[in-house]
Amino acid sequence: MGTTTQRDHAKLSASHSGCWLNCTAAPNYEAQFPDGPPGEAAQEGTLAHKVCELTVSYNAGQITKRKYNSQLKKLREDPLFQEEMIKTAEVYGQYIWEKVMSFDGKPYQAQEVRVDFSDYVPDGFGTCDSIVIGGDLLCITDYKHGKGYNVPAENNSQMRLYALGALKQYGMFYDIHRVSMAIIQPRICDEAKEEIITVEELKAWGEQIKPIAQTAYTGEGAEFHEGPWCKNYYCKGRFVCRARAENMTALEDFKDLPIDGLLTEQEKADREAAMNAGFALPPALTDADVGDLLYRGERLVSWYNELCDYALQAILDGKSIPGWKAVAGRSDRKWDDADAAMDDILKAGYQEAMLYDRKPKSLAQLEKLIGKKDFERIVGKHVVKPMGKPTLVVESDSREPYNSAAADLAGLKDREATQDG
Ligand code: SF4
Repeated sequence: MGTTTQRDHAKLSASHSGCWLNCTAAPNYEAQFPDGPPGEAAQEGTLAHKVCELTVSYNAGQITKRKYNSQLKKLREDPLFQEEMIKTAEVYGQYIWEKVMSFDGKPYQAQEVRVDFSDYVPDGFGTCDSIVIGGDLLCITDYKHGKGYNVPAENNSQMRLYALGALKQYGMFYDIHRVSMAIIQPRICDEAKEEIITVEELKAWGEQIKPIAQTAYTGEGAEFHEGPWCKNYYCKGRFVCRARAENMTALEDFKDLPIDGLLTEQEKADREAAMNAGFALPPALTDADVGDLLYRGERLVSWYNELCDYALQAILDGKSIPGWKAVAGRSDRKWDDADAAMDDILKAGYQEAMLYDRKPKSLAQLEKLIGKKDFERIVGKHVVKPMGKPTLVVESDSREPYNSAAADLAGLKDREATQDG
């Protein structure tokens, strides 16, 4: 799952493996921080998973339409329910359905499967969202509701640990040679992300991480290692972690840091040679410098924002953070009762037309009202999807690079569509 939930309590959980595989000191350090109630994002994630599970059960013919509707009705009663969850669950359900249909015969299919990967990680267990086994292929699929971090499928330790656990459980009954591990994260990525590796490759990876897991579990020889995983995997002690703060405060002064990352070996050698010869670095940053500093700065800003959130909450909880206090932020005026306010204006003799704007419902609202099929038939020809504004992201982000020519073309088409309309 994308967020920590009540169903994942192992000390070295699969969902946190991206953290403890990188920072072996984290699990024992985190033990001092209470779990606290799940945040709203985690609760939303849990609810969205329930909608996904329901959708897949219905698609698989395991429940009737009536049961689907009645269970969905119950889920809708949750104050955190959002209509978007039905849409994202459909994307997830469609992927599983296509996987199931890709086999010649009917594959084995299960959801919410608890798997045990303790052969590789002490006391390791976790819950897979979906398992499908057909031919020689084991398919593990995980739904991610979060949209803060675009989770990759390549080298994804959470998925690999699930796969090792599933292999242990089903390997005796099925002749599995390959493993597909897919992430469906519809709120930030239209396409499924998938990695397929052989069972030998998977087991070799398991052997490789075994000693790291042992260190993380016992804490003997464990080391703190700060990196993007502190935030991406919600390390519980990240706000006050000294190793993280020391690394970040060193970032405040970029010049003291060894420059690596995006510089080529040649650029590093040239730089070192220049420094040894007593030459100052060029006054203007190179493009490689800019890339490197952006990468470092992005994490610094993100860490600083988290530190602010932590300090504000600490003050609201009655603690004192020397030099800081909480104040009421800026707020906008609003009606205590909008209907009563409109009535009063009308009674004062103003025209109703003056009070309201007549606006069409949004595309998504109308699609929901009309139904997908009719919507497509009646107004599908009027729907265009302009390319989003260019956004700077790290190179490893799975989205396609921005294409100015395609954006120009899309813009042209939009303009034509508007003129034609
Ligand atoms: S915040 Fe980062 S460095 Fe500190 S314990 Fe957690 S994962 Fe390790």
